[in-house]
Amino acid sequence: MKIGVLALQGDFAEHISMLKRIGVETAEVRLPKHLDGLDGLIIPGGESTTIGKLAVAYDLIEPLKQFGKSHAIWGTCAGAIFLSKDARSNQPLLGLMDIKVQRNAFGRQVDSFETDLEIDELMKATGTEHPYHAIFIRAPLIESVHGSAKILSALDDGRIVAAQEGHLLATSFHPELTSDPRFHEYFISLAS
Ligand code: GLN
Repeated sequence: MKIGVLALQGDFAEHISMLKRIGVETAEVRLPKHLDGLDGLIIPGGESTTIGKLAVAYDLIEPLKQFGKSHAIWGTCAGAIFLSKDARSNQPLLGLMDIKVQRNAFGRQVDSFETDLEIDELMKATGTEHPYHAIFIRAPLIESVHGSAKILSALDDGRIVAAQEGHLLATSFHPELTSDPRFHEYFISLAS
């Protein structure tokens, strides 16, 4: 099992540390050739416009789209925006996941927050019962899911913060910034 982390911008190093901690081989992806031999890819949080522009500059858009057709990809925060079909803004997107997102939907940097989420699928997959502590930093909201995409987690008020479409995963929050490896383990199960 070898998981790549898109390392153009954002907190890719934190994803790599978490993957190493759970014993997964990792690779930093900056060029199309770095996708060779990977079982899955994580797109980190950061700034989705910057990640998109750099992906265009390094000719990564098409290779990433192709990769996502047959491999697991997980986008956290900015990564979730980049994975989506619709971000209501004119920026480069992979358009792989049939979700509509709204950037910065929870407000500015000072409105960042943490909360506990009950995520049935995650608890079932990892055989655990305690909630998942999620960190939101200038997070996007998943406004709606379409086609075969399904809701994985929502806040108490119904706002969607995690979605899955087959082997594609999107979270508004940052599991790489916690010490809880369950989301990474869940993603590995999708990649294998
Ligand atoms: N606000 C950022 C964006 O729109 C995402 C923030 C994050 O990844 N923590 O791209």
